Amino acid sequence: PYDEEATEDYIFKIVLTGDSAVGKSNLLSRYARNEFFPSSKTTIGVEFQTQSMVIDGKQIKAQIWDTAGQERFKAVTAAYYRGAVGALVVYDISRRQSFDDIGRCLEELRVHSDMSVVAMLVGNKCDLGHLREVSSEEGRRLAESEGMFFMETSALNSTNVKEAFETVITEIFNVVS
Ligand code: GDP
Ligand code: MG
Repeated sequence: PYDEEATEDYIFKIVLTGDSAVGKSNLLSRYARNEFFPSSKTTIGVEFQTQSMVIDGKQIKAQIWDTAGQERFKAVTAAYYRGAVGALVVYDISRRQSFDDIGRCLEELRVHSDMSVVAMLVGNKCDLGHLREVSSEEGRRLAESEGMFFMETSALNSTNVKEAFETVITEIFNVVS
């Protein structure tokens, strides 16, 4: 069997950020392993998972980092963002507070990462339309004003999960290649 580890042409570090319980860990498990966990399990420390895709015949490995965002030490936050070339900044469309906190998340991202980081604003839990507190239009407007991509996703029913990650990965590829 060939060594999959040795074949990639590019490795992109992508970070997940956003309030606790917005679905960051489930977006990652849905994308990387097609798994969903109905009950919340607290992310302890920092974890990452990888997923590969091919663009223009190049093998790309996305290394996607996930955290509970409760780091008490600035050094950990700095290490989390260091070298990141992409970011998914996530809120929950059924929880207004998580949208109001996006500004703080963006500030942290900008302090700790490069200007050129490819960022997407993600309104997760779009399956909860009956509980919606943030309109699609508000999300789109914020993303536009911050120069970010925008998508609404559902880790529960898989809506736009692959599309969100692959849009970011493809854009990074277009920038670096
Ligand atoms: P994190 O703290 O941001 O990593 O959030 P989790 O991934 O742990 O998810 C928090 C809770 O929201 C869990 O109970 C998940 O099952 C649930 N959840 C995550 N994504 C979705 C989604 O797209 N739709 C719905 N309805 N629930 C979700
Ligand atoms: Mg988590």
